[in-house]
Amino acid sequence: MIGLIAVTAAGRAAAGRLSAAWPEARCYDGPAAVAVPLAWQECDALVCFLAAGATVRLIAPLLESKATDPAVVAVDEATRWAVPLLGGHARDANDLARRVAEMLGAEPVVTTATDARGVPGLDTLGWPVQGAVAAVSRAILDGEPVRFEADATWPLPALPPNVGATGAVRLLVTDRLVDVDASTAVLRPPALVVGIGASRGAPADEIEQLVVAALAGAALSPLSVRHVATVDAKAGEPGIVEVAKRRGWVVVTHPAERLAAVAVPNPSAAALEAVGTPSVAEASALAQGGVLVVSKQKSAHATVAVARLRPRGRLALIGLGPGARDLLTPRAIDELRRASVIVGLDQYVAQVADLLRPGARVLASGMGAEEARARDAVEGARAGHAVALIGSGDAGVYAMASPALEFAGDDIDVVGVPGITANLAAAALLGAPLGHDHAVISLSDLHTPWDAIERRVRAAAGGDFVVTFYNPRSRGRDWQLAKALGILAGHRPPGTPVAIVREASRPDESVHLGTLADVDIEDADMRSVVIVGNSNTRIVAGRVVTPRGYRWLG
Ligand code: SAH
Repeated sequence: MIGLIAVTAAGRAAAGRLSAAWPEARCYDGPAAVAVPLAWQECDALVCFLAAGATVRLIAPLLESKATDPAVVAVDEATRWAVPLLGGHARDANDLARRVAEMLGAEPVVTTATDARGVPGLDTLGWPVQGAVAAVSRAILDGEPVRFEADATWPLPALPPNVGATGAVRLLVTDRLVDVDASTAVLRPPALVVGIGASRGAPADEIEQLVVAALAGAALSPLSVRHVATVDAKAGEPGIVEVAKRRGWVVVTHPAERLAAVAVPNPSAAALEAVGTPSVAEASALAQGGVLVVSKQKSAHATVAVARLRPRGRLALIGLGPGARDLLTPRAIDELRRASVIVGLDQYVAQVADLLRPGARVLASGMGAEEARARDAVEGARAGHAVALIGSGDAGVYAMASPALEFAGDDIDVVGVPGITANLAAAALLGAPLGHDHAVISLSDLHTPWDAIERRVRAAAGGDFVVTFYNPRSRGRDWQLAKALGILAGHRPPGTPVAIVREASRPDESVHLGTLADVDIEDADMRSVVIVGNSNTRIVAGRVVTPRGYRWLG
């Protein structure tokens, strides 16, 4: 819930615009001295249409802790600036300020140092962090050498080049309890799964003590617990639920048959009898893989075991859109900044170079190295890194997603970010050519025999589909487009619109509009798509329009 506090006419107008657009927003009226404390109680975030100073005075007495205080963004009377005053990282106020600014045509004023420099804040990774956070953050920002040590390769965003093998301050990534000096910050990766078995009515305190002792006995940090796990039948066991609640852990449950299939060191006949699996604690800890680091520990009414998961790397398949920066989605930008390794064709990497975090490793290669790129990306993720594999348009359309996923196993996480395709960008320039069923066909016969391509062109012709041709023509492939247009001309009128759209959304963008009878295919090349209307597509006021509901001519 976002509380909007406005006390002037201009403020109320701006708040009204936000609340009309955001279902999660609620307007607070009346004196700010009443509205701010009330909204503070009720909301996760506040947008105050008040002077920054006034806002600061009102929230000062309410401050409790960075983790629980709401985000606060102040917006000035002229709606020129959106200033995140509180919770920049911890409560996403920086992001909220950007969203507010976007809606109101204001400028977000982001003052959190790590954001301003493009360096990820230690607290933005979403993992608990302990120790000398301020000192290490400061050193990272100031470009001083920071020693980086990690027990395993976790898919972290890129860290700047001064974070490396040496340095007086240290960033440590570990699930282990270690003695840390005053110059070490410790990031706690979500590495541990605590398996819990409990007899009915097992007291929460007993279970908690057993868990705490199991972790402490193996020198493991409770902050690295990803979740607790048990058998389905114990999903509602009050003691387990209570411990998870106290600690902020999620409870994951598994069917008994599934647990019965997990090999464990200490099976028990009693458990098999009671819940249908010879192991609950050890098997639930191991149900998602990993290795057992604490074998079964028992108390009067509970059993506990702990497994350590192998980090899973992350492969983001990111479509950059047709070229223009404002056709690159915000999600694609976030994912580019989430990655530490960027893999792509050199021209695409160059297109987004300014968005990459300092320290991101770039594996750019030239045209033709598709398979090598796909392998590089998957290998990187398999090694545990956060990899972004980028492509123009959508990364899954005649692009890198398929070769990458042909190599990828289930040992990595894959995130797809859709992009605006050349087809869509070209269509938007023309009008509404894709208003009815359409087919997309690549005329490149490098990887596909021409016979197969021709068969599809004939099928699209027979089906009266609007057709978009990708890869229409190159120096070495100069006859295919004419041949394909000839096939379509056999099934639709000579006056059918044909558009060649070159470099859509890029500086050299051009559109050539003709018909099946007169189009000049010399205008097409590898930076173009060719869109051919169906038998009902018309030119209306200079725009290509394919009617949506038409009298079918068949
Ligand atoms: N993944 C991309 C397609 C890559 S295949 C997508 O989703 O759009 C490369 C072909 O896409 C080029 O030969 C050309 O036919 C087309 N193409 C890519 N960008 C284009 C643009 N901005 N304008 C016109 N055609 C484009």
